[in-house]
Amino acid sequence: MAAEVLADAGLAVTVYEHMPSVGRKLLLAGRSGLNITHNEPLDDLLARYGHGADHLATAIRTFGPQELRSWCASLGEPTFVGSTGQVFPASLRATPLLRAWLARLASAGVSIEARHRWLGWATTSDGAVDARRSLFGRADASTVEVTGDVTVLALGGASWPRVGSDGGWVAEFRRAGVEVSELRAANCGIRVDWTALFAERFAGVPLKNVAVAVADRSVRGDAMVTSGGVEGAPIYAHSAAIRDAIDRDGRCTVTVDLHPDVSNAGLRDRLERRRPKDSLATSLRRTIGLTPVAVSLLREATGNRVPVDPAELAVLVKAVPLVIEQTMSIERAISSAGGIAFAELDETFMLRRLPGTFVAGEMIDWEAPTGGYLLQASFSTAVAAAQGALAWLARHPITSIP
Ligand SMILES: Cc1cc2nc3c(=O)[nH]c(=O)nc-3n(C[C@H](O)[C@H](O)[C@H](O)COP(=O)(O)OP(=O)(O)OC[C@H]3O[C@@H](n4cnc5c(N)ncnc54)[C@H](O)[C@@H]3O)c2cc1C
Repeated sequence: MAAEVLADAGLAVTVYEHMPSVGRKLLLAGRSGLNITHNEPLDDLLARYGHGADHLATAIRTFGPQELRSWCASLGEPTFVGSTGQVFPASLRATPLLRAWLARLASAGVSIEARHRWLGWATTSDGAVDARRSLFGRADASTVEVTGDVTVLALGGASWPRVGSDGGWVAEFRRAGVEVSELRAANCGIRVDWTALFAERFAGVPLKNVAVAVADRSVRGDAMVTSGGVEGAPIYAHSAAIRDAIDRDGRCTVTVDLHPDVSNAGLRDRLERRRPKDSLATSLRRTIGLTPVAVSLLREATGNRVPVDPAELAVLVKAVPLVIEQTMSIERAISSAGGIAFAELDETFMLRRLPGTFVAGEMIDWEAPTGGYLLQASFSTAVAAAQGALAWLARHPITSIP
């Protein structure tokens, strides 16, 4: 996105990417529909970015959901708003969008150098970092030095390193004196030590329409049982709180309300109508409609000592406790928390210590829930960084001959 803004302004732009092709994480996000942004009042949207909200506000107000949706439409991918406000391209895929985008970038003169890994900055003879000169490692193990009048780095966080972003840049930034907080898993699943039987039978089975609570906050949605734990939007929504609780106390209790639409008393009344001859599974299905995965979850959570008393059982169904000691690793998280401290950046996302170098996207220290907020902030900061670069160039004469 930064390349597009810079090329549109008439600059000669080269994108360096260490993978064999660009946009692999965008394509991965496309596998679940490509929730590109969120349709809600801008102040509500900004509030999703927590401590980053103030720092991101100008970028998101300048290039926000409406601008992003128009941009998608301009690439032949009109968007629509889903029932919860999430915005998706009509095709629910990233491939057509990326294909059209790459064609447009090519016709704007942007060249792409794949298999070029940014290694860091070159140093001057006295050992200082030279922000205009970057070093790239190539597939044949050679290194090439590139001088740019401006540089925008958008190297991502460290989740799903398989598709490209591995956080390898962090050490180099720290070496240059830039404060970077540790990249940590955000929007990630929780690890649960299921019994072998449960994991085998229910991995991949959803717990539909549940409410997941941590402390006094509850989030509804569908959670997905996996062989090693639970994933899904209502879990991801709590991942920052779970992470902080584990850091503080070594564990965090997550409770799952299997029947969020019926009160405790309502469930108890229904459970009292249980037929004596029915098995636990049958009675829970008949009286309160629990699915096999939900019934087995009760067994897992209680060590197979599910209470028979209707009142006690109702309490359990409304708050199945899962004691969590670990979240899923960053390799399988949707996004990363941590990154370059805002204090290191000016309002145009330029590194204060390295003038002429701008940063964008997940490498900056903000985090947000799923729902389109991650891509929105990545695009918005890229536009802001590119506009910042143009403004900076206007004040500093271009010296490279394209
Ligand atoms: C499974 C999954 C589903 C997701 N779904 C959604 C969704 O529906 N909606 C949403 O808003 N967000 C979603 N996200 C998150 C979203 O994809 C990211 O927040 C976003 O892509 C971050 O953009 P970025 O440009 O900062 O980093 P990236 O998209 O990771 O891009 C960084 C690029 O830099 C390259 N790179 C890294 N290091 C180097 C280096 N040293 N040298 C050269 N190149 C390098 C990488 O290969 C990569 O191509 C999803 C993430 C995952 C993992």
